[in-house]
Amino acid sequence: MREALEALTRPVRLLAAGGTISMHGARAVPKLEAKDLIELAPPLAGVPELAAETVLSLPGTQIDLGQALELAARAAAAARAGEGVALTTGTDTLEELAVLCAMLHDADAPIVLTGASRPSSSPGADGAANLLDAVAVAGSERASGLGVVVVFGGEIHGAMTVRKVDSSGPAAFGSPTAGPVGRVVEGRLWLHASPMRPEPLAVTRLEHRVEVVSTGLGDDGAALRRAAESSDGVVFVALGAGHVSVPVLGELQSAATRTPVLVTCRPERGSMMFSTYGFAGSESDLRASGAICAPFLSPAAARVALLCCLGAGLDRAGIATALAPWDAG
Ligand code: ASP
Repeated sequence: MREALEALTRPVRLLAAGGTISMHGARAVPKLEAKDLIELAPPLAGVPELAAETVLSLPGTQIDLGQALELAARAAAAARAGEGVALTTGTDTLEELAVLCAMLHDADAPIVLTGASRPSSSPGADGAANLLDAVAVAGSERASGLGVVVVFGGEIHGAMTVRKVDSSGPAAFGSPTAGPVGRVVEGRLWLHASPMRPEPLAVTRLEHRVEVVSTGLGDDGAALRRAAESSDGVVFVALGAGHVSVPVLGELQSAATRTPVLVTCRPERGSMMFSTYGFAGSESDLRASGAICAPFLSPAAARVALLCCLGAGLDRAGIATALAPWDAG
């Protein structure tokens, strides 16, 4: 491990933003600063250039959208200056931060998010191991052009398709649709794929109201109607391969005339069909409804992606173009 870290060629900046990795105590709360995290992982002393700053000291659930945007902008700026970024944060909202970073990131140096499932004071704490792996990726020349990734439990996942798949275990992240893009082995990288990178957006604010509405058995569409009436955009979670009830289809058609509606799918390995079914409310009806389809984004990822598009001032056509990579073409 030490050898691999000593051989890193890119300066690394650790941005510490709270989460379980920074937590300590019988009832764990954020305590550790960036410099304490480095002390938890002694092999980091061998990294040729490692800068560290504490940006936030919060559980993931307490980070607001303004703070998240500042944090992602800070990470993107460091990457633009040629630093690989290791960003530690709470796993509860790490998926959202990863998407946000990916929507802003426009540099060659990678941004690598990680965290921990177990507080630093718990037996089997996993934070130090994850941090070592994240720094190894952030500082590696091999990770040039990789974009934004999540490194957790030895695996490397693309930011746009990663999901938290386990609430408490150390293999907390997976990419159910896309699969991991590689692994970290004693500080060395194995990369077998490149994650898709969105076109970077100039997101100036993250203040719009985007509601996430899921449909289900017997849905009459009232929740979708309410959301469309009271928000700047809606993420709508359809069933199966892009299916809804007949009343929901009507609400979807009318919602899409009023506000941008982004459709994703309920299955964890969601994708949206085109022309298999012919029943009312099947995929071809959804595709013709005026909604924008991004079935390869999870609902959480779709929400942040839509917030970014709105915050960059895109209209419906611009949003459809920006998010087209997240549907089959
Ligand atoms: N369980 C969370 C974590 O892993 C708590 C948080 O998101 O802050 O960090």
